[in-house]
Amino acid sequence: MFNKLLSKIFQSPKEEEEEEEEDLLQFQLVSAMDENTCLDCLELDGTVYESETIAPMPMHQDCRCVLVPYMKELIELDKKAESNGIHIPPSTRASKIGPIPENGGVYKFYLLERAKAMRSGKDGKELNSFLRGKLKNWKSEKRFQDQKKIIENIENNLK
Ligand SMILES: [Zn+2]
Repeated sequence: MFNKLLSKIFQSPKEEEEEEEEDLLQFQLVSAMDENTCLDCLELDGTVYESETIAPMPMHQDCRCVLVPYMKELIELDKKAESNGIHIPPSTRASKIGPIPENGGVYKFYLLERAKAMRSGKDGKELNSFLRGKLKNWKSEKRFQDQKKIIENIENNLK
């Protein structure tokens, strides 16, 4: 499998053209992680598309979503390494508050809840107290135990 990837990297442009139809590559939609990202974009974040042409982008004017190459083979390779006792550090991604887990983690949950609440008409003090309540609950949730620092960071930014 890895040899296949290497040969893909080192092959000549002519060979590349011939193999272009091969479905080695897929594309993943990655949205910006901050309070300006709209609910529609946040909900599609992480979606994998078979080709660039079927991704619904840009979704709106000033959309900051990007498509990044997504290789199933590399994910399989990571799994194989882990099963052989080689620890692969968890992937992270950029966000307004700094590095967050690749899947968005608790910060993405926060942004989604915020965007949904705003769409339903919440704003100002009402929105902030709603979000504070959510953050308080997430602090005690097992799935976010390793992200307490991120939760505190969001709380500090919530005026
Ligand atoms: Zn977008």
